[in-house]
Amino acid sequence: MKTISIVVPCYNEEDVIEVTAKRLLDFIEQHKKFKFEIIFINDGSSDHTEEKLSTLCDIHQVIKTASFSRNFGHQIAVSAGIDLASGDAVVLIDADLQDPPEVIDQMIDKWLEGYDVVYGTRTDRHGESKFKLLTAKYFYRTLNKLSEVPIPLDTGDFRLMDKKVVEQLKNMPEKSRFVRGMVSWVGFRQTSVNYRRSERFAGESKYPLRKMIKFAFDGILSFSKKPLQLSILFGFACSFIALIGIVYSVYIRLMTNEWVEGWATIFIAILFLGGVQLISIGILGEYVGRIYDETKNRPMYILAKKNGFENK
Ligand code: UDP
Ligand code: MG
Repeated sequence: MKTISIVVPCYNEEDVIEVTAKRLLDFIEQHKKFKFEIIFINDGSSDHTEEKLSTLCDIHQVIKTASFSRNFGHQIAVSAGIDLASGDAVVLIDADLQDPPEVIDQMIDKWLEGYDVVYGTRTDRHGESKFKLLTAKYFYRTLNKLSEVPIPLDTGDFRLMDKKVVEQLKNMPEKSRFVRGMVSWVGFRQTSVNYRRSERFAGESKYPLRKMIKFAFDGILSFSKKPLQLSILFGFACSFIALIGIVYSVYIRLMTNEWVEGWATIFIAILFLGGVQLISIGILGEYVGRIYDETKNRPMYILAKKNGFENK
């Protein structure tokens, strides 16, 4: 019998965790052809998520839980779940029921047809702010243009992956993780199923702007060197404009009497060049910072507690 692992990252999800567990358990109940394990990763929650997970784990054989020593972030929590999963396929799903568990049905069908990755593409999203919808839309399109591997549009981490893809992910030790891009990078046979993303069942988004920006940077910088090339391009463009400026200044200095004028031009040119230089250094810095993080070679996460893994 094939085993399917369902990985659920949770950060301060006390309001939803029991309902989510129930929905997943119902789903499992209807699929007796497979053996399941549900792995909840508690990403350093400061509410009662941990206690609730502990209780769920005691009651249900299929539920396993692991807790981080602090909040490491969604992408790291997903990665830890992947590391701990032992199934022939691994499903990643959010804790807030925005990704309906019933869609896993179609994912399993595609997997049985022979696909190695089946990702869920959102046809529409309910209950999210205009700002989130707009930024997400343009983020995925920009990322796709910049990235060296095609990363599917409007697709989150909700997906099913075969064991062979999971084994490859386990061997990718990078610390700035952008899981959906890494899965695209791995390759094999990939396909999508469409679904409607529902409203969050309860609680609030655990992705404030700060985390969204970090996430976007990780995605773009881990999958593209184009921002660096862009600063070179900028450099060339500025040098070209400067060259025209130089020729012009020499001309008015030697050929006319109007050469005292023009301090505004100098002022603007200095500001403009200063800006471009700072942006370029900043882009470079983002890459160097990531190299620094990688070379420190710290573990990606620290597990404080594991529950339910022993007996199965
Ligand atoms: N999450 C996490 N660690 C974090 C932030 C979020 O494990 O630091 C989890 C969260 O519990 C949820 C999933 O990641 O299961 C997606 O987060 P959320 O629903 O808040 O994001 P949104 O859907 O608003 O983008
Ligand atoms: Mg959500």
